[in-house]
Amino acid sequence: HLSNRLSKVAEYVPINARMADIGSDHAYLPVYLANNRLISYAVAGEVVKGPFENAKHEIVKEGLEEIIQPRLADGLAAIESTDEIDTVVIAGMGGALITSILTEGRHKLDNVKRLILQPNIGEDNIRKWVQENGYQISAEAILAEDGHSYEIIVADATTAVVEYQPKELLFGPYLVKERNQAFINKWRLELLRLKEVETQIKSATTSPVEKLEQVELKIKAIEEVLG
Ligand code: SAM
Repeated sequence: HLSNRLSKVAEYVPINARMADIGSDHAYLPVYLANNRLISYAVAGEVVKGPFENAKHEIVKEGLEEIIQPRLADGLAAIESTDEIDTVVIAGMGGALITSILTEGRHKLDNVKRLILQPNIGEDNIRKWVQENGYQISAEAILAEDGHSYEIIVADATTAVVEYQPKELLFGPYLVKERNQAFINKWRLELLRLKEVETQIKSATTSPVEKLEQVELKIKAIEEVLG
């Protein structure tokens, strides 16, 4: 029983992938994939001892030691070249942390064909990183669960030059086309939040004008997209 969020992430893992789940915590995602014979190999990476023990426990409990390797390591350092990892999942962290993990471990990604990234915030950071690092967004999803909205960004390796428009970086090239209910709800909420910020800035005497301009630009962009 995976959360809807991790089930959606699982849908984007290619059949028979050799995957690394970085920040795996209980290793629920690779355990689910291995139990359903959907992957051939996985590394479950964790930088914190407690979650690493959780992952190990879950893997042993399910009898999946042959398929899933738990590793105590920082970010992509969990990946060894002999693992022949082709798919990397980083889910349930902020966008800035995800991009810093990707940047620090960039050399580990040379043979990685697919990245499946699920930031809790800061999605635009991820899209910028993707376009600057030889990947191209191939799918996106947005869903709401337990009062939170989650985005999933799937990026495949490419030699093509990729350049997203500012609007695509902010909203997601696929999500902004689809404009589903979860997308509309997310951005309606964000619009309300930003309007409050705008009011606060206007009533404060010391706020820099650039800050106000930034917020107003974002408000305008959201209003345009929501129509
Ligand atoms: N990926 C799972 C999910 O989506 O449900 C667990 C998400 S949990 C909120 C984030 C996990 O990432 C934590 O267990 C944390 O220890 C781990 N983490 C944070 N920074 C990390 C890093 N640099 N390398 C490996 N794991 C990290």
